[in-house]
Amino acid sequence: MILPAPPTPVLLLDLAAEHAALQPALNDAMQEVMDAATFIQGPAVGQFAAELGEYLGGAHVVPCANGTDALTLALMSLELPAGAEVIVPAFTYVATLEAAALLGLRPVLVDVLSDTFNIDPAAAEAAITPRTGAIVAVHLFGQCADLEALRAISARHGVALIEDNAQAIGATFQMQNGETAMAGTVGAVGTTSFFPSKNLGCLGDGGALLTRDSARAALLHQLANHGQSRKYYHQRIGLNSRLDTLQAALLRVKLQQLPHNTAARQAVAARYDAALADVAGVIIPARDSRSTHVFHQYTIQVTDTRRRNDLQHFLKSCGVPTMIYYPLPVHAQPAYAYLGYRAGQFPVAERLCGAVLSLPIHPLLTVEQQEYIIDCVKSFMG
Ligand SMILES: *Cc1c(COP(=O)(O)O)cnc(C)c1O
Repeated sequence: MILPAPPTPVLLLDLAAEHAALQPALNDAMQEVMDAATFIQGPAVGQFAAELGEYLGGAHVVPCANGTDALTLALMSLELPAGAEVIVPAFTYVATLEAAALLGLRPVLVDVLSDTFNIDPAAAEAAITPRTGAIVAVHLFGQCADLEALRAISARHGVALIEDNAQAIGATFQMQNGETAMAGTVGAVGTTSFFPSKNLGCLGDGGALLTRDSARAALLHQLANHGQSRKYYHQRIGLNSRLDTLQAALLRVKLQQLPHNTAARQAVAARYDAALADVAGVIIPARDSRSTHVFHQYTIQVTDTRRRNDLQHFLKSCGVPTMIYYPLPVHAQPAYAYLGYRAGQFPVAERLCGAVLSLPIHPLLTVEQQEYIIDCVKSFMG
């Protein structure tokens, strides 16, 4: 199985090239911040928040230091009693649990759906107890969790819905009543991350909270800034969690590119779908017809899980980098052993950890590179 070398090196993400294409706007933005020298809470922070809010259909945007802090702040804003339970999917990035655990709340895991990778709403509802304070839905890999069902469950039980939207900025979800909602703006609070590799990434760490409720936005602002609304007068115990002016200025430039980049990712995904749908042993990512998919990741499942790692090694030998998000479910992580879960309790999450493989997808991936990647996958699986 010797294949010719890739046409040009295949990367998981080509941020250097993406940023080169945005010159001189990025340099100008940086220079402007240096000249004004208001590095904390400078004007670009509010401008970026307003622009992102507009993009998200009129939501309030409260910038903060990173996506993990955003989750922490979202939970803090609910003012839950110590030990309250927070329902989270068993197949997610660890930050979702970490925020709850650090606040002295108890993460309660529920399994995910095997086709969309997202939290199973029925399992989430079944896990609700009198101690439940919140459900955190993660829009994994760029497609919305079942916001219709989750919103109804949240209302029925009086349990807040938090949307971890670090991977799905710009995705939309069509409700049965015809309403189209932007991911991150349906629950009581949405959170997002501007980690460089996210669909809207800055050049360092950054994050934001999203909400439609102006009172909650004010509370989140306060919590993210030492619990103060007026300098040196502290209403609450807060965090120092701010988005740097420099990152906000760069994000203003990058936000303008987001719709184009999303369309480019979707075009790459459509080509993968067409080429891989009929490859035996490969399951392409399922589309929920109610949600758009912004393809933070293009994640296939290898049905024979014994072959997943071999496929990854083969692709590596062909010069095709891939990633496994995530290799170990959260309940199997030593840090969360104290929750007392056992192997076998979340069979879908456990199986997915052995089956998933994320292929290169980014706005500058060329058709030639993609054809090469597809040939490599087919040649191994065929
Ligand atoms: C990236 C990510 C986070 C954390 O964001 P940071 O900015 O790295 O703290 C949280 N949840 C999910 C689902 C993520 O993908």
